[in-house]
Amino acid sequence: MIKKNDSPQTAEYFKSLANVWKQNRRQSFAEFLELNYRLSENEGIAPQAFNLRDNPYWREPIDNCNNGRTNRISILKSTQVGGTITAQGILMAAAAINPAPAMAVFPDHSEAKLQRDRIVANMLESRPRIRNLAPLRTNARSIDMQTQQVFLGNAGSDQSLRGKPCRFVIKHEVDVYPRKANDKAGNPQETPDERTKTFTSPLIFEESTPAGNDSYIAAQFEASQKRFWFVQCPKCKRWQKTRFFPYAEGKFKGRGGIVGYKDAAGNLRSIEEARRLSYYLCVHGCKITPQYKNDMIAGGRWVPSGCSIDDDTGETTGTPYRSDRHIGYHIWTIMQSKKSIGDIVEAYITFSRKGNLRGFFQDWLGIKYERNLKLPTWEKLGTKYKTGHKLKQVPNDCWFLTLGADVQEHETFWVVWGWSPGRTPALIDLGVFDQEAEEKPFVVIDGQMLSSDIAQLLDKVNIKKTQYPVLPHEGKQTNPIGLSSLAIKIGGTDTNYRNHEVHAVVKKMRHPTDPNKDRLRSTRGDRHVDPDTRYKMSLVEKSSRDGKPYPGGLRLWNLCKGFYRDIWETRLVLPPGETQAMRLPDDLLESPHGERFLKQLLNERNQESFNARTNEKKDHPRIIDKTLRCDFRDASIIAEAVADMATDLIFGQVEWMATEWAKKVQHQHQPATPNAEPGPVDQSPPATDRPSDHHPPDDIVAR
Ligand SMILES: [Zn+2]
Repeated sequence: MIKKNDSPQTAEYFKSLANVWKQNRRQSFAEFLELNYRLSENEGIAPQAFNLRDNPYWREPIDNCNNGRTNRISILKSTQVGGTITAQGILMAAAAINPAPAMAVFPDHSEAKLQRDRIVANMLESRPRIRNLAPLRTNARSIDMQTQQVFLGNAGSDQSLRGKPCRFVIKHEVDVYPRKANDKAGNPQETPDERTKTFTSPLIFEESTPAGNDSYIAAQFEASQKRFWFVQCPKCKRWQKTRFFPYAEGKFKGRGGIVGYKDAAGNLRSIEEARRLSYYLCVHGCKITPQYKNDMIAGGRWVPSGCSIDDDTGETTGTPYRSDRHIGYHIWTIMQSKKSIGDIVEAYITFSRKGNLRGFFQDWLGIKYERNLKLPTWEKLGTKYKTGHKLKQVPNDCWFLTLGADVQEHETFWVVWGWSPGRTPALIDLGVFDQEAEEKPFVVIDGQMLSSDIAQLLDKVNIKKTQYPVLPHEGKQTNPIGLSSLAIKIGGTDTNYRNHEVHAVVKKMRHPTDPNKDRLRSTRGDRHVDPDTRYKMSLVEKSSRDGKPYPGGLRLWNLCKGFYRDIWETRLVLPPGETQAMRLPDDLLESPHGERFLKQLLNERNQESFNARTNEKKDHPRIIDKTLRCDFRDASIIAEAVADMATDLIFGQVEWMATEWAKKVQHQHQPATPNAEPGPVDQSPPATDRPSDHHPPDDIVAR
């Protein structure tokens, strides 16, 4: 806890308090903060002045908090652009210049406490005009800034958001607030606003990185007078908006953004190359090398949507679409002086490799990841994504196959997907093993009695028993690794039903020492696994359902299912042929399970929900038609999770980039290993039933 010196208050202290009341209420907040606001070492840096010289884009939003007209400011931003310390500074400037009861809302209780201590530490580090307003003692509910009370709100507690009227409301990271504390409570994003209703000129300042499909901050930004940071090209002097992706069409097509991280064929370069070759391309074609980035940004200006800057006079022209009572600012990483063009392209490549473009959009571009959620019908879906292969055929650009299975009470649903670079899946095979349809519902394998449907899974993942031929293309019948038929690389199954039987099967396919080489894996959803980690293995001694032990322990792979659900939902609307878009067999619609597969794929939507008891927000699948279920969809999600694991196994990390995959093949076929597997084209035996000593799944695991 931070404590102010308890010594008697000095004359200087009373003088500075008196000054507040003689203060010009319209003094610039930004100027005041530049002169007086300092950051303590609690911010993880050496104590230093609040720097607006390098980050000039904060000046206008700060000043508009006290312009007397604007009632709401919505900051749509990427992470790490200083939103929190700026918002805290605004409270201090208000206390010194134009005090009024205020409130600061944080996502949860511990964050509120942490930020309260940081605010006080920064006040004590600052110059006297702020330092003298620091609270004399800490308080759990508010910060006493001498001239104004700042109430602390915690978005998880509806009660903490209601109370006395406030003129200033600051909402930190508003997109991670729980949606609703309970049925009776209001929406924690909006409840704090009600406190300002009795004031004629209130100010609500809300900031956040956009999160999820129904981002609050993105919606607020859309409803505002949107402002974008315009910069002047250092070469041709023409003004333009800063962007990451160059324009896709129109008169500036291919320009106005960061370029150089892709090769001529459109593939992402390696991080080293991309860092060296990337630059900003002006809308008029000037190449702006990375060392000019910060100067260009520093000379920028906010321009409301609907306006532009006249290149000759340098004046803002046009009329904004909306009034400035509600202003929105979009702030993204390129504006942050400590981040370079190289850092941004590195992030883009890293997120792409992991197949997580959503993360890049939100955290680096500060943009909501848009999806058109108008879903097609099942028939349209089946037609739209046809790409020229048939069931049980492998398109020749697939590198490996995975299987996902959903074990139900009496039957097992399964799908086989083939995977190409960029996380592009092709459906190869699917089916239902029905225990009751079999002559012998039970079989004995190695002294273990197994239901026939589960036993059949063993054959599917057995490379000696199941091989799928590669579809001939331009005279070749091999995939990029030179294989003419593929087996399942890794299979995964859920553990909701008959978990002891599943365990017995999984154990049969288990690698004696290395869990990373297990061929069939038990999986389950685990909300404690985050989208970056995606999966985590744990050894389980006994079943959590019935308490019975798993002989020898069960290797259980815990998945962040939300991440995969999200991708599958996006896949339903991606243009066919795009990276990550699914590829379906031409004969799927007429096949026995085609209709059910397509309907199930469409039968679940991702939704965010809030658990009032644990105070946690989580992704939550909502099944649309309960009688239809989602078995094939669940199986596909598992197949994708184990595909991530397969890339990890092959490349040493989760890796989906074509160039990195190609390097691996080159490496494998170098003359240094003359007796290794066949080259890319020659020597491959014809399709199907390859000799058993040719194990395609392990060929590409050069370990
Ligand atoms: Zn230019």
